[in-house]
Amino acid sequence: MSLQEILDDIEDYLEYRRDEGATSIEVDPEVVKGLSKPARRSEPAPNPEVPGTGPAAESSLDDVAAQIAVCTKCSLHETRTKTVPGQGSSSPEIMFIGEAPGADEDRQGVAFIGRAGQLLTKMIEAMGFTREEVFIGNILKCRPPGNRTPMPDEMETCMPYLKEQIRLLKPKVIIALGATAVKGLLDVRTGITKLRGTWMAFENIDLMPTYHPAYLLRNPSAKKDVWEDLKEVLHFLGREVPDHRK
Ligand code: URA
Repeated sequence: MSLQEILDDIEDYLEYRRDEGATSIEVDPEVVKGLSKPARRSEPAPNPEVPGTGPAAESSLDDVAAQIAVCTKCSLHETRTKTVPGQGSSSPEIMFIGEAPGADEDRQGVAFIGRAGQLLTKMIEAMGFTREEVFIGNILKCRPPGNRTPMPDEMETCMPYLKEQIRLLKPKVIIALGATAVKGLLDVRTGITKLRGTWMAFENIDLMPTYHPAYLLRNPSAKKDVWEDLKEVLHFLGREVPDHRK
């Protein structure tokens, strides 16, 4: 059926209902949501680094996710199941940034839901937040095959999406999880062991580097260092450190 035929049918139906005396009709909100998506997607985002976008329109997180969903800028699109744009609050105090989706994330399209993700959830909750109150994302939006470390060109290609997300989210603090996140954001070569716990900045946003939860799964004794880094972030935000002895 052509689009014009569908439009004609809808018009006929609405006219018929109006002639019958109806002044409103019931519509499933989910259907309306589904209808509005393509319209929003067609609006270009203002980030000139993201192809196909122009300077005039204002973009949204959904726009960026929609661009990521159809991205073919690097070869990772050939092996991915789902893209993983990241998720959470649209005005978070804290944005957590990891490396790249793993197998679980690739299957479900949600960042940090595997074993490392469950540990990240505990870290977030230990700080007194929920996952929904922060934003959780990654340097790469597609899984590298076999969970290999992202290549420099993949990170460079994917960074404009993250930059645009950061611009829209305006977090007060970025917590960079692990060496790859720090390298992707700051292009520094210093190891994470040296950098962790030291305030840095990404485009005027304060950034705290710490260990990746996957590293903590292998090295549980490093958890105390991460807790020090997370407490430092809480102090910076003027928040009380939850007392976990109670
Ligand atoms: N899951 C993610 O989403 N990112 C990581 O860096 C690791 C696991």
